[in-house]
Amino acid sequence: MPKPTAFLNGEFTELENAKISIVTHAFNYGTGVFEGIRGNWNKKKNQLYIYKLEEHISRIMKSAKIMRLESKYTEEKMLDIIIDLVKKNDYKEDIYIRPIIYKSSEVVGLRMHDLDDEFLVYIVPFGDYLDPSKGINCGTSSFRRIDDSMIPVRAKVTGLYVNNSMAKTEAYLNGYDEAIMLNMDGHVSEGTGENIAIIKDQTIISPTVSDNILEGITLETALDIADKNLNLNIERRTIDRSELYIADEVLMTGTAAHITPVVSIDKINIGNGQPGTITKTMQEKYFSIIKGEDDSYSNDLTKIYS
Ligand code: PMP
Repeated sequence: MPKPTAFLNGEFTELENAKISIVTHAFNYGTGVFEGIRGNWNKKKNQLYIYKLEEHISRIMKSAKIMRLESKYTEEKMLDIIIDLVKKNDYKEDIYIRPIIYKSSEVVGLRMHDLDDEFLVYIVPFGDYLDPSKGINCGTSSFRRIDDSMIPVRAKVTGLYVNNSMAKTEAYLNGYDEAIMLNMDGHVSEGTGENIAIIKDQTIISPTVSDNILEGITLETALDIADKNLNLNIERRTIDRSELYIADEVLMTGTAAHITPVVSIDKINIGNGQPGTITKTMQEKYFSIIKGEDDSYSNDLTKIYS
């Protein structure tokens, strides 16, 4: 195995030497935007597949634009850097790729203007984030999801994740696997690193983009599977907290979390308290897509090894 390699300050460098100064603006104030991208290892095919790499790069560019961060690289160049870096690391297991565009100036003072911007990428081996087979128990968080009028929610801003981290820890300390965050209006927004959807009477329903969600890439895939493969109706609308409890099925979607069934919320069983059958079917399809076993979705994959 080669030593883990990262990309920092315009060059590939050993991860253990990839350091930034303690004075870095982004470290002090959370002034960066990032992505979480998965590479999925297929042992049978001896291949690593990155799922929807272009969509993630497109989203980080939008996040940067919203946050007045200037990307040093074009989308094409970023794709090249990431693909090169994944090849160099030579992992033969599931990985997580973390690019960050951030305010790199070593200076004290609050602002987004008149600062330098940098781009870095690192990779870590990454198994399951939540338990996709047994399903998860969720609790409604007392921390509300940040409002777009506070920090832009459709940008993946590093500093914003203090809010999500507080919610996740509260859930963990209360014995739950994951938190469900309500927006400032008290409607369902999302998990701390996942979008949420409910299934009710053959319709899959997920909050609208104005409910302060991150516009998730996995959710788009889940809705596509629901439409094309499961013949479900798709609805995007505001969801009330009490609707969750009486849904037929509840699921969470995210790059880290895949498609994960929610089996209880606030100690109320969803359905019979077992992973829902429709969610399980969606999940199977999703895994086959991201592992390169489904030819109809092969355009969404970047093959790493030749
Ligand atoms: N919401 C939040 C807050 C997230 O951090 C994530 C993970 N990026 C998601 C939703 C799911 O987004 P995606 O499916 O694009 O990973």
